[in-house]
Amino acid sequence: MFVGADVKTVVAEHRVQGVLPLTIFTKIIDGKIPADIVYEDEYCLAFRDVNPQAPTHVLLIPRKPVESLDQLTPEDSALMGHLMMTVPEIARQQGVSGEYRTIINTGEKGGQTVFHLHIHILAGRALTWPPG
Ligand code: AMP
Repeated sequence: MFVGADVKTVVAEHRVQGVLPLTIFTKIIDGKIPADIVYEDEYCLAFRDVNPQAPTHVLLIPRKPVESLDQLTPEDSALMGHLMMTVPEIARQQGVSGEYRTIINTGEKGGQTVFHLHIHILAGRALTWPPG
């Protein structure tokens, strides 16, 4: 598993190599720009979306800088399991257990605008299907 203790080293190395696209979420992880953080642990953090699409709209992101689902490698399996296990915990904490939607947009045509993997957690209103 990608352990949190390695995150800073990996990020630093990638930056030196110039291969890590810096996103606004990297700045949130680094504490360089403010965010309304609702949950954090060694591997991930969650904060309120700045442009909420529902009364509850939280973004859960790994600290590890992964661009999207397409960039995951087998070593990320435990990390992704941890993220998924954290979703219901955040839902509980937000008071929306059992009544929420999770979305992961991948690529421009998939609706992704920030290229740091994130799980949207939306709740607090009736969510229709299909999505737009
Ligand atoms: P996506 O379109 O799936 O890539 O989602 C990116 C989300 O990040 C959008 O819902 C934005 O509103 C949100 N967002 C962008 N910048 C920030 C920020 N500084 N703080 C919180 N949410 C942000």
